[in-house]
Amino acid sequence: MRFTLFVLITLLAMACSVSQDKKIEIPVPEAQLESTKVAKNIILLIGDGMGMGQISAGTYSNNNSSALERFPITGIHKPQASSNLITDSAAAATSFACGIKTYNGAIGVDADTNAVQTILEEAELKGLKTGLVASSTIVHATPASFIAHNKLRINYEEIAVDFLDTEIEYFVGGGKKFFDRRTIDDRDLVKELEAKDYLIGNFLTDFSEFKTQIGDNKKVGYLSADSDPLPVAQGRDYLVDAAMTGLKHLKSQADNGFFIMIESSQIDWGGHANNADYIITEFLEFNNLIGKVLDWAEQDGETLVVVTADHETGGFTINPGSTMDSLVTAFTSTKHSGDFIPVFAYGPGSEQFSGIYENTEIYFKMRTAFGWGDQ
Ligand code: MG
Ligand code: ZN
Repeated sequence: MRFTLFVLITLLAMACSVSQDKKIEIPVPEAQLESTKVAKNIILLIGDGMGMGQISAGTYSNNNSSALERFPITGIHKPQASSNLITDSAAAATSFACGIKTYNGAIGVDADTNAVQTILEEAELKGLKTGLVASSTIVHATPASFIAHNKLRINYEEIAVDFLDTEIEYFVGGGKKFFDRRTIDDRDLVKELEAKDYLIGNFLTDFSEFKTQIGDNKKVGYLSADSDPLPVAQGRDYLVDAAMTGLKHLKSQADNGFFIMIESSQIDWGGHANNADYIITEFLEFNNLIGKVLDWAEQDGETLVVVTADHETGGFTINPGSTMDSLVTAFTSTKHSGDFIPVFAYGPGSEQFSGIYENTEIYFKMRTAFGWGDQ
């Protein structure tokens, strides 16, 4: 009996040590090692209107591959607004920027139209550098929700004034006329920004030339079109260069890190137009940008990269009869859909982005990644 017990205990002990040894031998994935660190920088990449249909069609059209496949962490967010199951870009971007659900059309304000501090404004207050880059106007709903507070997204000239309320170090997007050819007042916001030590350029100089003038200027803005920038298929080519120049610019002066939101704005417009080629060409540019941002973040080692969309647009899908080279696509509407939205994350703090959660959680997860904790 005692002998049997001894054998049993010995066997158990051996079993334990074997399983412990095994545990030790399991390699810890690099993404998990990184996740124990705080993110010094956060790059939030938003593909407006980029649901799974858009990602699928863009991937199939790119030899069945995309930069999104390089992300170690994927999750899903639930995009509905407070006022409507189907969100618009304003309510959705305000959820990312402020951590609140609000009504469609709201720019950085809650359901009662009260201004709510954005993650970009808080980053400025904490001494980080900040940036916004978009392939729409810079006062359009998605970028606007990170820097402005307005009860209505179409108040573009009022939203432009809010750019003077922060010390944002870098912004690129269209909408020059809302700054210097205004209808609600006679202000010239380009001059006012220059008086605040901004170097401001515009589309009359190619971005590739403008960037050589940045030099030691700490605060830089470039207005890439008078109103909406062109689709990439019609020659717009600044988004990737402007984004990568922004990362370099912010890092060069960001002892305390930086926050930047970069938007591929027009995937959404392809969806509204029910134009699959428009969606795919915009996605391919975004995909190129995502790959370059990931390369940059891998080099940097202290940067969290999050890619997501605000909502899906068009109920875009890939129908039977499709081949990889020849997609048969279809749309259910010319508006946004209520589909859940994928999230992709890389770098310190990325592990939080796994799972299914409300779009407001993106804000709280970014805060946690910065080590800011709860409000
Ligand atoms: Mg947008
Ligand atoms: Zn839209």
